[in-house]
Amino acid sequence: MKGFPTKINQIEERIRGIQPAAYSASRNYKAGAVTYLSPYISRGVISTRQVLLHIYSLNLPPSHTEKLIQELAWRDYWQQVWLHKKDEIFQDLKSSQSPVANLSIPKAVIEAKTGIEAVDQAIKELYETGYMHNHMRMYVAAICCNIAQSHWLQPARWMYSLLLDGDLGSNHLSWQWVAGTNSSKKYVANQDNINKYFSSDQKGTFLDVPYADFERMEVPDILKEVKPLEARMSLPYASTNTLKDAPTLIYNYYNLDPYWHGGEEFQRVLLLEPSFFEKFPVSQKCLDFFLDLSSNIADIQVFVGEFDELNSIVSSEHLIYKEHPTNSLYKGKEEPREWMSSVQGDYPSFFAFWKKSKKELLQ
Ligand SMILES: Cc1cc2nc3c(=O)[nH]c(=O)nc-3n(C[C@H](O)[C@H](O)[C@H](O)COP(=O)(O)OP(=O)(O)OC[C@H]3O[C@@H](n4cnc5c(N)ncnc54)[C@H](O)[C@@H]3O)c2cc1C
Repeated sequence: MKGFPTKINQIEERIRGIQPAAYSASRNYKAGAVTYLSPYISRGVISTRQVLLHIYSLNLPPSHTEKLIQELAWRDYWQQVWLHKKDEIFQDLKSSQSPVANLSIPKAVIEAKTGIEAVDQAIKELYETGYMHNHMRMYVAAICCNIAQSHWLQPARWMYSLLLDGDLGSNHLSWQWVAGTNSSKKYVANQDNINKYFSSDQKGTFLDVPYADFERMEVPDILKEVKPLEARMSLPYASTNTLKDAPTLIYNYYNLDPYWHGGEEFQRVLLLEPSFFEKFPVSQKCLDFFLDLSSNIADIQVFVGEFDELNSIVSSEHLIYKEHPTNSLYKGKEEPREWMSSVQGDYPSFFAFWKKSKKELLQ
């Protein structure tokens, strides 16, 4: 991985660099040909549809592109679930997590001291880079929920706060999928599985057991101590003196589309609501990345305050924003987001959603 550049031309270059066939063969491996596009998709700089159109332009056979398109569809699916279930995604969705020993986060996970070398290394990298491989996210979530018996919500908030691609839909719903509260079965992986996909050869860890043992496994001593999420945020200072009551586009943590109403005359405001970041804190690294990405939008003005404060300066008939579950209290004109296909709605499972979407998506 070559870090996460923030200039739009570098991001578009990253889209051009994707390798769908290599992706299909290797995505589950640490060194697999994954795209590293999620931070840009989650921050709303690019859309899944934009990536899809690039994949089509490569004129590859469907057998080479299906896996990547399917993963992009997972993203659209979680967004649809969030859109329809709204704040229900913050609680156990389909069934209650069981057993639950604590409502906190294993200290050994926060401190990257679980004793599973590949996991500890990946957690250290998460702090340094703001990224973690999908398969490793599944291992970490399984350790927290299904081995340490922590309820999924607090560890999910911890991981969300550190990921540059932090997205409450993809994040919380994936944690629920691992914890079995939004899936038919809990996800667990043993040391052999980690060794295979993360090129390690460790033995004798608490995960070095046959799968049948997970059912009756006691919480290992190393995971018994827990800690709450500690996330202190300081939002940047921003003067609001220059804002006018004029046609205004609202950008935020989930919408930094540099081409939105491109070339048109608008006041462009980056809204940072303290109440939102208090509820869903993110690291300074994530905040800096987000602010750097916003400089792809010419003349954007940062507004730190609640929506109502912005609305007291700019009247609702002048405000335009993109549809998103985090914008439910905004007033003004709502514009649609871009999706990969016309398949939308509250599907009971990804595979029901995919069965319908793939007819449109796999050309
Ligand atoms: C516990 C857990 C937490 C997660 N938290 C987040 C999160 O906060 N934000 C986030 O964007 N993704 C999250 N994911 C999904 C997935 O891990 C990331 O989207 C992916 O690892 C991002 O890396 P990439 O862009 O290189 O993905 P690639 O493998 O290259 O995939 C391409 C794109 O497809 C989408 N995608 C791929 N896998 C998934 C998936 N499993 N679910 C949804 N979309 C997917 C992403 O938009 C990604 O950018 C989480 C998964 C798990 C298991």
